[in-house]
Amino acid sequence: TAAANPGVRKLQPYQAGKPMDELQRELGLSHVVKLASNENPLGLSEKVRTALQGELSDLIRYPDANGFYLKSKLAELHQVGSDQITLGNGSNDVLEILARTFVSAEHEVVFSQHAFVVYPLVTQAIGAKGVSVPAKDYGHDLDAMAAAINERTKMVFIANPNNPTGTFLSTAEIKAFLDKVPEHVIVVLDEAYYEYVPEADRAPSVEWLQHYPNLVVSRTFSKAYGLAGLRAGYAVSSADIANLLNRIRQPFNVNSLSLKAAEVVLDDHDYLQRAIEVNAQGMQQLVEFCRSEGFNFIPSHGNFLTIEVGANAADIYQRLLHEGVIVRPVAGYELPNHLRVSIGLPEENQAFIDAMRNIR
Ligand code: PMP
Repeated sequence: TAAANPGVRKLQPYQAGKPMDELQRELGLSHVVKLASNENPLGLSEKVRTALQGELSDLIRYPDANGFYLKSKLAELHQVGSDQITLGNGSNDVLEILARTFVSAEHEVVFSQHAFVVYPLVTQAIGAKGVSVPAKDYGHDLDAMAAAINERTKMVFIANPNNPTGTFLSTAEIKAFLDKVPEHVIVVLDEAYYEYVPEADRAPSVEWLQHYPNLVVSRTFSKAYGLAGLRAGYAVSSADIANLLNRIRQPFNVNSLSLKAAEVVLDDHDYLQRAIEVNAQGMQQLVEFCRSEGFNFIPSHGNFLTIEVGANAADIYQRLLHEGVIVRPVAGYELPNHLRVSIGLPEENQAFIDAMRNIR
């Protein structure tokens, strides 16, 4: 066979689980609880469900290639120009477009140990060098990350909150970092879990764009907005950067249903509020379980909790599966003793808690 591009053979494919019904059949279970992919447990927004029905007959048409209405809505929400928004097929797509726009094989890309897997993935796909900076207390060590920047560095990825650790950087910490980063480096601030952060603690990341032209903020509809299956995410940046990203992205990278759903869910304030509340309660439930059973966990600001279950984490994962509870092993993130549990509805969290007690 033909040789793949440099770096491709070294890539580890993204580890996704089996389809749920398949797994259920395999394990001979009547019911499975999935707490593995940081999805929204509320189910689809009813407003979105209705709107999507109305969209079906238009599916013979191509989507609006410019995502006019969604971009207008996002521009209004963020108080920026529509020309500062780039839409993606999930924020993963945005991250890849960013890397392909700015990073070449001779460059370096800096990210943190235990950070989101897509950062090394998009870096290696280009053949560039990924620089993984050792974490501090499981989170980003921004001083060490700043020190890792050199003249070959083209991009830095920061996930805030981070997946899979749930760690969070304060506004002051990120601002101090941005002040240190030289202008030839693009800083991608990935805020996929932004909505779960209490309002008082959220960084004014989009406002920062005025002071830091090399900053790009990315967000997603997959988590608090409950549209993971539709794949919609976006970047907010300077108009200049957005213009460049727009040249690289595929013309119809966001499909008609996703555009519509994202527009509608942005107005469903009640749904977002419930998602945040259910998450806060579920987090409390899992934290209390950990405390009562003596499990260490990484305090989380996202919609998941990463729990130190011990050196037999892989075995515990398997045994949970047989109890009908799917969680996420994070050994691939250099966390071999932890399991990541997404926050579900109260009864789903309880199913995890009961399963943990059953397998002891
Ligand atoms: N960034 C982070 C930190 C994530 O955890 C995820 C989802 N796992 C994403 C980006 C990508 O999400 P999506 O492509 O669904 O928008």
